[in-house]
Amino acid sequence: MAEQDYYDILGVSKDASEKDIKRAYRRLAAKYHPDVNHEPGAEEKFKKINEAYETLSDSQKRAQYDQFGSAGPQAGQGFGGFGGSQGYSNFGGGFDDIFSQFFGGGGRTRRDPTAPRQGRDLQYSMTLDFMDAVFGKTTTIKYDRDAECKTCHGTGAKPGKSPVTCPRCHGAGVITSVRQTPLGNMQTQTTCPECNGTGKIIKPEDRCNTCHGAGHVHERHELEVKVPAGVDDGQQMRLQHQGDAGENGGPAGDLYIVFRVTPSREFRRDGSTIYVDRDISFAQAALGDEVKVKTVHGDVDLKIPAGTQSETNFRLRGKGVPHLNGNGNGDEHVTVHVKTPKSLNKRQREAMMAFAAASGENVKGVKKTVLDKLRDAFEEK
Ligand SMILES: [Zn+2]
Ligand SMILES: [Zn+2]
Repeated sequence: MAEQDYYDILGVSKDASEKDIKRAYRRLAAKYHPDVNHEPGAEEKFKKINEAYETLSDSQKRAQYDQFGSAGPQAGQGFGGFGGSQGYSNFGGGFDDIFSQFFGGGGRTRRDPTAPRQGRDLQYSMTLDFMDAVFGKTTTIKYDRDAECKTCHGTGAKPGKSPVTCPRCHGAGVITSVRQTPLGNMQTQTTCPECNGTGKIIKPEDRCNTCHGAGHVHERHELEVKVPAGVDDGQQMRLQHQGDAGENGGPAGDLYIVFRVTPSREFRRDGSTIYVDRDISFAQAALGDEVKVKTVHGDVDLKIPAGTQSETNFRLRGKGVPHLNGNGNGDEHVTVHVKTPKSLNKRQREAMMAFAAASGENVKGVKKTVLDKLRDAFEEK
């Protein structure tokens, strides 16, 4: 089944504002809610609408969706397995609230609007140099988040002032209306729009001057981050309570740092294993030698045994990437490539013929071009 575009489902454009999306959702949810719409397919449609709204109403998820066409950082990304990452779990303000405004009562999944709620999780993409990912580093990042207002400590009220009972619902948080239908009187409960169901309001004149009653302020936050040695491309790290501020005294959401690692020109990496190539000469391969090999920990000597064949692999134990759990390093694998000389000068040629003769071979050799001869003349100088 082809995935339908979330924007199409809600009937909004790609640059629709949060308000537009909310409005479209409310309209469609009311139309297709299974309690009111008994047409075939309505329930399926209702589910799709909720799915689309859940993603598009959340700026992080929406950005992710716009970029990757899927919701949530879990999609297509390896989880680091460190820092107890557990994915996005808590979305402040979601559709439950809107839901209860429309279909409130009836014992539905109604959320207590005064209950402490964790703030939204945030995502930060960090690009790392190859070596920084291998050895880790400490760096300072800056990102935008909603922080608790320091003036009112999240209450939204001026110092010394506190919220008062909502005059519209008298503190109930819901408004009950009675509708006459052919089947009798029907009672509907809706969330009080004045207090958003909290039963309390802050009088306009009592609102905190810093946050205008919101309880939180938008801020550019600076945070020192310790990138552990051994992180890999696509992995993420969770920093607890560094996301948006919570509501009603709930904890802040978490910050997820997603690592993007720049590839290296010298090293290939697969997890904690490093792969490198090393060219050696025919003589080194035949006679054996000790050669310098690059590792992320610096050059090391590699013993080439006599009679080494081209494409032979050697393992350098512990010369790979540190394991994320801090428990030692991976290995480095070296593949040697025996290089055939591209041209031989006179002495080399004679030595090679002598070598062939000593091996009992009768090698004819191929006649040289003018260019070869020129090269020879040049090299013999
Ligand atoms: Zn109220
Ligand atoms: Zn405030």
